[in-house]
Amino acid sequence: MSPDNPIPSAAENDLYQEVVVEHKRAPRHFGTLAAPTHQARGHNPQCGDDLKVELQLADDKVGDIRFSGQGCAICIASASMMTEAVLGADVETARQMQQRFRAVLTGQLDAQEAQLGKLVSLAGVRRYPSRIKCALLGWHALMHAIDDAAPGEAVSTEVAT
Ligand code: ZN
Repeated sequence: MSPDNPIPSAAENDLYQEVVVEHKRAPRHFGTLAAPTHQARGHNPQCGDDLKVELQLADDKVGDIRFSGQGCAICIASASMMTEAVLGADVETARQMQQRFRAVLTGQLDAQEAQLGKLVSLAGVRRYPSRIKCALLGWHALMHAIDDAAPGEAVSTEVAT
């Protein structure tokens, strides 16, 4: 199912920057929480990516976060960087990050203006429309988890760009 090419062509090299490869090799906050307050699942049928994001929200802050599942390098690396970016942040900040990241990937916002930290290493994905959903899947699940009105109920959803 995964379209990952084991030998990326020269044109794809900017898609697999060192930081992306490193996060795929050793994803941060990968696993599950003992008692998540919020969770959601995201599925990208085009690629086969399937992630679950679990949160512990307290006082509108992301107190803890884990993700699990399987996906391509872009999907896993993006979700891994997302967990680093939003851990300890308040929910509104996480929402704004998601909006800026999405705007960069869809070409509506310049990567240098977006103040995304290391997430900017995924900006090259915007040149590969079929991979944008991969990069957004973890964030999509995060937003659904935050909006999850019934903790414990995992929703399966497809990402729309
Ligand atoms: Zn993917």
